[in-house]
Amino acid sequence: MKEQPSLLDAFRLDGRVAAITGGARGIGLATASLFTAAGARIVLLDIDAEAAAKAATGLGPLASSMQLDVSSEADVNRVFDEIASTCGGLDVLVNNAGIALRRASTELSLADWQRVVDVNMTGVFLCARAAAAHMLRRGSGAIVNTASIMGFSGGGLYPNISYQATKGAVVNMTRALAVEWAAGGIRVNAVAPTWVDTDFIGSLKTQPELMARIRAVTPMGRMAQPHEVANAILFLASPAAAMVTGHVLAVDGGFLAQ
Ligand code: NAD
Repeated sequence: MKEQPSLLDAFRLDGRVAAITGGARGIGLATASLFTAAGARIVLLDIDAEAAAKAATGLGPLASSMQLDVSSEADVNRVFDEIASTCGGLDVLVNNAGIALRRASTELSLADWQRVVDVNMTGVFLCARAAAAHMLRRGSGAIVNTASIMGFSGGGLYPNISYQATKGAVVNMTRALAVEWAAGGIRVNAVAPTWVDTDFIGSLKTQPELMARIRAVTPMGRMAQPHEVANAILFLASPAAAMVTGHVLAVDGGFLAQ
């Protein structure tokens, strides 16, 4: 007897191919783990090739990895072409790699500013453009960018100008690409997480007073766990969000509602 389709099937990614940048750890890895559980074939893309390979092995046969620096145009184009040809196309891009250099603006060198711009803003554009080239050919695809509450907020707990500037750019790039590619069948959305318990905030976690202030400025009184962000990314990537594009979904315990 044929199995009845479930109402929840719209939240699955069976048979879809997904590339996840910054997939070796943190939010990217939690997303990869959820995507494989949802039936997707995933490719972890990370500048840290060793960690990405180890993570892919841990995720089982639906996962593989490739080294990629998202700020390198030539490498991005080559890697996305290779994914599309070896996997028979590309259905989902999670544009998630990101870095932060938290220091006073007057002490931020142009080189440091530029590195954050290259990874967080240019890297998101390069990967979206390379993925879209394949998705537009098939007339379908979903892109989910990882923005941040700092794409909407000036922060205040410590200086982080290049991060805030580039995450603000990711928010509006999400809207602009959603509009540009809607007729081509590509949905483009983003998540805007609050502080998430990953290596990314390792240096903040050693400062108990700062962590207390982070809890105090968050209505729900805690930071997020990586899987809580992954859940939102899966929704936006899945057919369940078929009519959702250009949206930035805050996963922030109420931070931006204040
Ligand atoms: P993480 O540091 O745990 O993981 C980031 C991954 O990106 C790492 O594996 C790293 O090797 C990879 N990476 C860095 N530069 C790269 C490059 N040039 N090319 C390819 N890969 C690169 O961080 P995370 O917390 O999982 O963050 C993922 C995303 O979420 C980032 O865009 C970050 O800005 C965003 N974010 C994080 C938080 C947080 O508090 N952790 C909050 C809001 C948004």
